[in-house]
Amino acid sequence: MSCIFCKINNGEVPSEILYRDEDMFIIKDIDPKANKHYLMIPTKHYKLISDMTDEDADAFARSIRKIPTLSKELGLENGYRLIINQGDDAGQTVFHLHVHILAGQPLDFPDLKKQ
Ligand code: 5GP
Ligand code: ZN
Repeated sequence: MSCIFCKINNGEVPSEILYRDEDMFIIKDIDPKANKHYLMIPTKHYKLISDMTDEDADAFARSIRKIPTLSKELGLENGYRLIINQGDDAGQTVFHLHVHILAGQPLDFPDLKKQ
């Protein structure tokens, strides 16, 4: 398995795990795009939302609902943004589904049509 997130999950690639439960783990993004930039990564490897089984969707829903309970530890008290890049137009670079958690500053919301 050449997936970087699976390697982090099984300890082959060292990375500080900020939170872990039976469904997912959370790490800091190696190339942060905001003052706080985390990745919430399902423990099970799958590439896209369209690949989710019902069981994966249940685990994913539990994971999303866990984020606000970690608000203090992660510094999300003033708000946060979740992003899931899917496929080429979104610029997905790691093909193991993950949720970006951005926080720690006001997050602008650019009009991408104007770029
Ligand atoms: P994507 O572009 O697929 O939505 O996001 C992949 C993210 O994974 C990028 O923001 C990238 O910086 C991050 N990333 C890639 N490799 C590593 C790594 O080895 N460790 C960590 N912590 N983040 C990584
Ligand atoms: Zn993987």
